[in-house]
Amino acid sequence: MSRISTPDQYQELRDALRDLSKEYPDEYWRRIDHERVYPEAFVDALTKAGWMAALIPQEYGGSGLGLTEASVIMEEINRNGGNSGFCHGQMYNMNTLLRNGSEAQKRKYLPKIASGELRLQSMAVTEPTTGTDTTKLKTNAVKKDGRYVVNGQKVWISRVQHSDMMILLARTTPLSDVKKKSDGLSCFLVDLHQAIGNGLTVRPIPNMVNHETNELFFDNLEIPEENLIGEEGRGFRYILDGLNAERALIAAECIGDGYWFVDRASKYASERIVFDRPIGMNQGIQFPIAESYIDVRAADLMRYKACELFDNHQPCGAEANMAKHLAATASWKAANACLQTHGGFGFACEYDVERKFRETRLYQVAPISTNLILSYVAEHVLDLPRSF
Ligand SMILES: Cc1cc2nc3c(=O)[nH]c(=O)nc-3n(C[C@H](O)[C@H](O)[C@H](O)COP(=O)(O)OP(=O)(O)OC[C@H]3O[C@@H](n4cnc5c(N)ncnc54)[C@H](O)[C@@H]3O)c2cc1C
Repeated sequence: MSRISTPDQYQELRDALRDLSKEYPDEYWRRIDHERVYPEAFVDALTKAGWMAALIPQEYGGSGLGLTEASVIMEEINRNGGNSGFCHGQMYNMNTLLRNGSEAQKRKYLPKIASGELRLQSMAVTEPTTGTDTTKLKTNAVKKDGRYVVNGQKVWISRVQHSDMMILLARTTPLSDVKKKSDGLSCFLVDLHQAIGNGLTVRPIPNMVNHETNELFFDNLEIPEENLIGEEGRGFRYILDGLNAERALIAAECIGDGYWFVDRASKYASERIVFDRPIGMNQGIQFPIAESYIDVRAADLMRYKACELFDNHQPCGAEANMAKHLAATASWKAANACLQTHGGFGFACEYDVERKFRETRLYQVAPISTNLILSYVAEHVLDLPRSF
């Protein structure tokens, strides 16, 4: 495969990920997609190589890298034909625990997450009746005799069946009793093995991509008091920090996808002969590929900016949202250019284009939809009148 080179100071990291990815070629990802299974072998190899513990400080057994390096890891997985969506949860969930968890929680969980004994892959925020209007979520946690008792429902909660721990956002003070609607929400660590069958029911949602995602039903689930992350009532702020990390990481995944589409389209356009010449000689084929490349490179710059701000503990909401928007738009454009370049073969599973096409489409909707990013930038960055 041809490869566009974007030399940067992370070349060593990129090379290591590329070497690991060689063990999991296109055929592997195609089979995983076809059989709709979880890429256990790949995630295990990633964990053993220490990449899943990139963000965990060295004192807790991790490598103590920043979000920037984590984003390069996610990018390289997608750029080499894989799908980080199977494991990115651990990277961004980690920040919620790292930045807001107690010392006791960090000592208890982080070394086990670093060694691969525990996976923290899930985060439960979205609810069926409130959707994007997060502060209205209805799942509640009531404190009682040293425990919190949780009731409610969540939807689209990913990787629950391939995780040991989950971060849950629930309301601990009724909306009617708080000054700001973002107050009164709290974050909890849920031990999934204890919870499932004891107050938590998981129902998988079949969907367009091979993405394990579920409906969750909470019926008097009991969570020990010590599993509250940070202070009660401040959970929305903690989650926002994690969501900014998530947006920057997903931007990187889209950038990896974008480069992959441009690589594949360029190669096919150079090799496919129609009317006795390579189709890539036609500017109608060249220009959409060139334009996609320009967009991906531009999005890449905003990704680095968002990660740099996050790593320096500076506000990065605007940059993380803009990076995710630019990158998701660029990868979708590149996906379309790549599919069109391949003509009918773009639809054949053996070329992998249709799989990556479906996978990258998700990021127009999740973890935050395009409209909501535009509304954030309009109203929170540009100070336009609020629409909701
Ligand atoms: C495969 C998959 C995996 C997911 N994984 C997780 C997970 O692990 N954890 C989790 O918590 N969530 C997860 N999600 C949920 C995801 O974050 C939401 O689907 C997403 O935020 C959109 O919310 P919604 O589906 O409720 O859409 P809605 O809020 O119902 O919105 C529907 C549409 O209306 C638009 N819209 C709504 N309000 C406005 C407005 N005021 N102005 C303009 N447009 C508006 C939205 O942009 C969207 O296009 C996942 C979703 C999918 C599909």
